[in-house]
Amino acid sequence: MASDTCEGCGEQVTIAGGIANLWTFERDQTGGMTLEFDSDASEHFLCFECIDRLPDDPTASDVAGLGGS
Ligand SMILES: [Zn+2]
Repeated sequence: MASDTCEGCGEQVTIAGGIANLWTFERDQTGGMTLEFDSDASEHFLCFECIDRLPDDPTASDVAGLGGS
């Protein structure tokens, strides 16, 4: 088990397995995943709670806005 810090809320999030498992949506084992935005090629690690708060077509600015309000 590893953990990372959610960029949206700042919570420590448990990550199961290696990076390949981030895309399997095993929510009972993994609390978040890394999103990649094509618009600016940036990567942001978020917990699923914050991912659920993003709009359908999120951008890096939407991620930045998660922690602000
Ligand atoms: Zn979060």
